[in-house]
Amino acid sequence: IYILAIESSCDDTSAAILNHKNVLSNITASQKIHEEYGGVVPELASRAHQQNIVPVVHQALNKANIDKKLISAIAFTRGPGLMGSLLVGTSFAKSLALGLDVPLIEVNHMQAHILAHFIEGQEDGIPEFPFLAMTISGGHTQIVLVKDYFDMEILGETLDDAVGEAFDKSAKILGLPYPGGPLVDKYAKEGNADAFQFPKPKVEGLNFSFSGLKTSILYFIQKETAKNPNFIEENLVDICASIQKTIIGILMDKLKKAVKQTGIKNIAIGGGVSANSGIRNALRTAEKNRGWKTYIPKFEYCTDNAAMIGIVGYLKFNEMDFTNQSVSAKARYKITQN
Ligand code: ATP
Ligand code: FE
Repeated sequence: IYILAIESSCDDTSAAILNHKNVLSNITASQKIHEEYGGVVPELASRAHQQNIVPVVHQALNKANIDKKLISAIAFTRGPGLMGSLLVGTSFAKSLALGLDVPLIEVNHMQAHILAHFIEGQEDGIPEFPFLAMTISGGHTQIVLVKDYFDMEILGETLDDAVGEAFDKSAKILGLPYPGGPLVDKYAKEGNADAFQFPKPKVEGLNFSFSGLKTSILYFIQKETAKNPNFIEENLVDICASIQKTIIGILMDKLKKAVKQTGIKNIAIGGGVSANSGIRNALRTAEKNRGWKTYIPKFEYCTDNAAMIGIVGYLKFNEMDFTNQSVSAKARYKITQN
């Protein structure tokens, strides 16, 4: 069985070919254009998807070295995401499925961030149900109870900003280019994480909040640069390390609470922020000290990619869970909706 998968929910155009649970190719065209605007510009994103989608699909087929006539089904991201971006992938997938006369499979992007763990060949193997998944990305921060592939329950989520946004907005305050998350991570590795203290939000239960942190970082930087205009330059690595430590602390506190509440110690992470070295190290430490079994995705399956759409496509193909040509993109799409 060969699945062709297409992802276009935000600013990455990606196509992948899977043979069962094995990834044969996973090609992503990232859009540089948004850097100069300090964030994703939806209109420009859809235009770039339009330009990239055919070459990206061709490259995926070439790299996998299979003819398109061998494709068994086409999986695509139906949502959530930017409407204009989703429309490009959705329309392309529908047309190609019609042309090749193969079934069409719709995929929920957030389910895919979690189900990426079922792709063959990852260090931690395949998670056993039930497990807890923490989705940490540019648009989401959730703790999800995963009872089966398509049986998920949200135990907690952010009340305001997503954790990826917290990274990106902090980076912006420091004058770093978009997306700043990976840069904060890079500088944090060289800095002293105890140099500066930022308050952690007090949020009930398993919910999160990150907007207060952003504000306190902004005030702190304004106060310090008023005293010393070179404050950021002189302390960049320490500031980044301290911010990262605070964010990871917030995430780990809630995870510990979720484990206590559910008694489940199988923990998976998914989404762009799972690429962060701080959260990866914190989970490995918890694995040793707390007896958790942790699942950390391969780097290429953390940020947006079509391979994760392909694995969901494969799982749905097995259940003959197909959609039809009247399907349309869905910008708001809960992880609990199948
Ligand atoms: P969603 O999946 O919620 O729809 P998205 O698809 O836009 O949102 P992802 O591609 O999953 O988001 O993740 C992108 C986010 O991950 C960005 O905010 C980016 O800064 C962050 N990110 C990526 N790598 C790192 C890293 N090493 N450290 C911290 N943040 C990171
Ligand atoms: Fe994503």
